[in-house]
Amino acid sequence: ENNRVPMVAGNWKMNGDRSLVSQFSNELKTQQLSCTVVICPPSIYLPLFSNHDFSLGGQNVSHLDNGAHTGELSVAMLKDAGCSHVIVGHSERRESQHESSELVAKKAAQAIEQGLVPIVCVGEPLSVREQQTVEAFIGDQIKALTDLLSVEALKRCVIAYEPIWAIGTGKTATPQQAQEVHAFIRQTLNENAQGVGDSISLLYGGSVKADNAKELFSQPDVDGGLIGGASLKLEDFIAICQAAN
Ligand code: PEP
Repeated sequence: ENNRVPMVAGNWKMNGDRSLVSQFSNELKTQQLSCTVVICPPSIYLPLFSNHDFSLGGQNVSHLDNGAHTGELSVAMLKDAGCSHVIVGHSERRESQHESSELVAKKAAQAIEQGLVPIVCVGEPLSVREQQTVEAFIGDQIKALTDLLSVEALKRCVIAYEPIWAIGTGKTATPQQAQEVHAFIRQTLNENAQGVGDSISLLYGGSVKADNAKELFSQPDVDGGLIGGASLKLEDFIAICQAAN
């Protein structure tokens, strides 16, 4: 089973409104694209998408089934609202909500068990890059996944490498920097999880724009992108999707 397919996912974060939902529903037509396109809006907007031919994803999910967890959303609820995907472990949540790699792995496991594809985010802060300990740092984040998830479950994951210093900063990783870490992630998964690295999609995220997407996506181990800021402008987002073809 090989789930290594080109993918572009847009993370709207806490941005967008009803009119942006209508614009994307009406004008983002993906038939001519050969990549999987996923839009991850604020979850309250998920049910407002209509007649769209792209996939929908949540930006976060609980690792629990249901119950007294005020403000949380379950995998079942996201599916009910039309999702096929969910972002887990975005660095903004790892930082502001203190989400550990163990919790992120639990969320990924819950998503897979109940039928959503998790887009699991990993990535180092600038201090780690400067200390040249990127592989140890990313290796630990990946190990939390391989410790908890079965090989079969890992095969259903998408992993997004998002260096924190490149997110929302306009400072993109060079294609070579992205490629190096993607190759490391693939190799780590191959070694620790029976060749899973070769069969899943690895996305790059961090200031991907219409004018740098092609070069990033053409790296051998970069299968597409997770897009923040540029996913809010339809024309830019379409150009990025075209770069993944
Ligand atoms: C992100 O936060 O997932 C992201 C990649 O943001 P941006 O594209 O704005 O850097």
